[in-house]
Amino acid sequence: MKTTRIMTCSDAAQAHIVQGALANEQIASMLQNENFSSLYPTHVSATSGVDVLVYEKDKEAALQLLEENGMIGDDLSYCPRCGSAHIRLVHKRGKQLRAWIAAFCALMAASPLGKNCAYWEFICDECKERFESPVGKKKSREGV
Ligand SMILES: [Zn+2]
Repeated sequence: MKTTRIMTCSDAAQAHIVQGALANEQIASMLQNENFSSLYPTHVSATSGVDVLVYEKDKEAALQLLEENGMIGDDLSYCPRCGSAHIRLVHKRGKQLRAWIAAFCALMAASPLGKNCAYWEFICDECKERFESPVGKKKSREGV
């Protein structure tokens, strides 16, 4: 089953609070970079943070829950062109192998994936737009 990132926490403690809130609503979640956070707390908070992942089918419910609890502000997960929330992180065309190698290297180096990696991009399921980084809800609404 596909997973999707719903938010990035500055440290593992915050991520666990979010995970607990999700668990209360029977929403399964996983943490990414948590181990790095434990090993190198200052390093992770200064770079990538801890990603909270949920299954795609739970994304809407999870985001709603977190918004209601004030755990996330303006979530940057909307298409800059049409404002759709139906976006996915994909590897760029023809760079599948490189994308995975880059992901692997980023993992080994404990560096944030995406920020210095040229092989990943977002794609919008609604308008098929490809873009480097999503925008917040407010911004995408203004653009419509
Ligand atoms: Zn779009």
